[in-house]
Amino acid sequence: MELIKVNQSIEKNADFIKEVGLESGQPVQKCYQCGKCTAGCPVAFAMDYPPQQVIRMVQLGMKDELLKSNTIWICSTCHTCSTRCPCEVEITHVMDTLRIMAGKSGATPAGKAKYVETMYNALLSTVKSYGRTYEVGLVLQNNLKSGKLFNGADMGMPMFQKGKLQLMPSKIQGAAEVARIFDEVRKMEGGVK
Ligand code: SF4
Ligand code: SF4
Repeated sequence: MELIKVNQSIEKNADFIKEVGLESGQPVQKCYQCGKCTAGCPVAFAMDYPPQQVIRMVQLGMKDELLKSNTIWICSTCHTCSTRCPCEVEITHVMDTLRIMAGKSGATPAGKAKYVETMYNALLSTVKSYGRTYEVGLVLQNNLKSGKLFNGADMGMPMFQKGKLQLMPSKIQGAAEVARIFDEVRKMEGGVK
């Protein structure tokens, strides 16, 4: 069954490897499955497909499975895999590319990865509004979207008491330029949210 599924993916998404290679700028075809990336990845245990397998799935055209995977959201962009790869594949860029593709395709991750995606989008929205992160706004947005209104309150209160959290947001100089960058990128991407 699995073999049939892989064959179907190769036929259906023959250009996927080319597309990911071009978008990420990485020679994904060079990967020979040594496994050094997975061996060094600190969060591989939480991924549905470890980094080595992600690259293999790109080579095999398994686009649907990858864009729905939790791996692309669990990846913490730490670059450990990239520094270990003997073929100089910057796997981190491949993960970025797959996240962008997932966003454009409307594929939504499930389980804990959904929480990561929500947090990711909330973070970008505070950067767009203020030119920097605004932690309280970030947590509020995330809690409203996830329906867990008091999530993180136990950590937030001690941080607030120690003056580590600002209740009100502050904008950086040049916040308008940052917002313009977001708008320009949005336009380049065809208005995809
Ligand atoms: S960049 Fe992502 S895939 Fe690579 S080692 Fe770090 S968490 Fe793992
Ligand atoms: S370290 Fe590089 S060559 Fe080895 S499996 Fe990972 S991507 Fe492939």
